[in-house]
Parts: sequence; structure tokens; C-alpha cells
Amino acid sequence: MTLREACREGAVRLRKAGVPEAELDAWYLLEWASGVSRSHYLAYPEEKLGEEQERRFSEGLAKREKRIPLQYITGEQEFMGLSFLVNDQVLIPRQDTEILVEEALKYLKPGMRVLDLCTGSGCILLSLLHFCPEAEGTGADLSRGALETAGRNCERLGIQAELVQGDLFENIEGTFDLIVSNPPYIRRAEIQELMEEVRCREPYMALDGHEDGLYFYRRIAEEAPRYLKPGGLLCLEIGFDQAESVSGLLRDRGFDEIETVRDLAGLDRVVRGRRGPGETEEKEN
Ligand code: GLN
Repeated sequence: MTLREACREGAVRLRKAGVPEAELDAWYLLEWASGVSRSHYLAYPEEKLGEEQERRFSEGLAKREKRIPLQYITGEQEFMGLSFLVNDQVLIPRQDTEILVEEALKYLKPGMRVLDLCTGSGCILLSLLHFCPEAEGTGADLSRGALETAGRNCERLGIQAELVQGDLFENIEGTFDLIVSNPPYIRRAEIQELMEEVRCREPYMALDGHEDGLYFYRRIAEEAPRYLKPGGLLCLEIGFDQAESVSGLLRDRGFDEIETVRDLAGLDRVVRGRRGPGETEEKEN
């Protein structure tokens, strides 16, 4: 089978299985299975696939036909220009989340301590540490499978970070200059409306924001002041319709300078706030 034939046949198979963007996914799977670049493909479409490449391509297609996300098949996703390992233990990093990282990077300086709650693949924390290598970072997650993946991403990217298993702040010690999080925030009743790849294949616990979607924001807003240095920044990714509720939660907990940041589509994407000087709870150092 030639490269061109493989690409065509792959697209047909995926389209039949109802995969959105079948042509594109067929190409990505071919690239992954054959190691052939796009420019090579365009120059030599009649080149033959090797037996092993053909087998790998067909296996990839079979998985994608079952609506396993492309990134779980190829095992990676780019985020902030870095390549992260992903698997079914972690949410696939979303481009929208780069807004949160960019916002946090405006604040993060060498020597600062940053905490990432619900770190998943580690994409947020490790991007921050890649672009601000002299900061110190901790990532927390309830899921051991997620932390193991985050650990492998540390090695892959050559970044040192502390990874802590626990329920939000459960096993976190000390105080931080910056706390970031992209917690699960989908309303429970809305999970069933998501596309099959997300609803059936990504970790349910990475999606589920409980009844009103705000469960984790409530808990983070309540506990964060104890773990933030005075004037420290809390930066949260939110769903497009959650800015008002999440800002309100921060206001209730005494945060100052609360602001909403929009994404490239003009949708509310991040809420940030600074720990007010009035908060003088324990745990300061
Ligand atoms: N922090 C990770 C990410 O943004 C995981 C988020 C989650 O599991 N909800 O991709």
C-alpha cells in the first residue's frame, strides 16, 4: 500500500466510524505509524509503506474507530510548544489552557514557589517551570496514575518538580507565591452531552465539577488563602459561563484585584485574584 492509498483508506474507515475530522486524523495516524513527515508525504505519495508501518497504522485506525482520542493512541500532545506524554489517566491538555499559563507567567518570577492543583499530565506546572526555570514547583493530584504521568513528563522535559498525591491541599505544606489550577468544572448533568471521546474516554474525575460545576472552585477559594503568601496570586481556569460565580467565591474569601481573562475566542477563560493583606491566617512562613 502506498502512503497516499493509506491516507485515503484511513480517512474512509474513520469517516464510516463517525469520527469528526476523519481526513486529518487519518493523516496524523499515518505520520505516527510511518514516521513520514508531511513534506515527505507530499513529495513521495507513491512510496510504499513497510509491513510493520502498515500494521501499526491499521492498529491505530482500529483504536480511533472505537473513538479512542488520537492523543491516547499516539501518546502525546503538544502544549505551550512542548511535547507532553498523555494516556487515559490524564486529561488531554487543551489549547485554551495556554491562556492560564500565559497569565501565570506574567506574574511568576525566579525564586517564587508555585503550586498546581489537579495537575493531571503536569502540562500547566511544567510549562511554567520550563519558561521560568528558576521558580520552584509543586503539583498535586488525587490520581496516582496522573501523578505517574506527570513524573514521566518531568523526566521527558528535564524539569524538576515536586509531585504530591492528595485531595487538593490535603498533603501540601508551606506557602506559595502563585497557585494555579484547571480543576474539573463540568456540571455533572452536562457530562453526557460531551463528545464521545471526552465523555467515554477521558478520566471522569478530571471532568466532573459535581452538580453545579463549582465544587472545586469553592474548596480552592476557601483553602487557598492559607497557602498563599500575602499578596500572592490565585489563577484559575474556568468554563465560559463561570466567571461571575468564581469571582464571587474569591470575593467572599477576601481576594483583591479579581479579574477575568478571555481566551482567543473572546470567551471568559481565567479568573485571577490576589490574596488580600487582611487575610492573616496560620501557615505563614
Ligand atoms: N491540569 C491538567 C490540565 O489542565 C488537568 C486538568 C484536569 O484534570 N481537570 O490539563
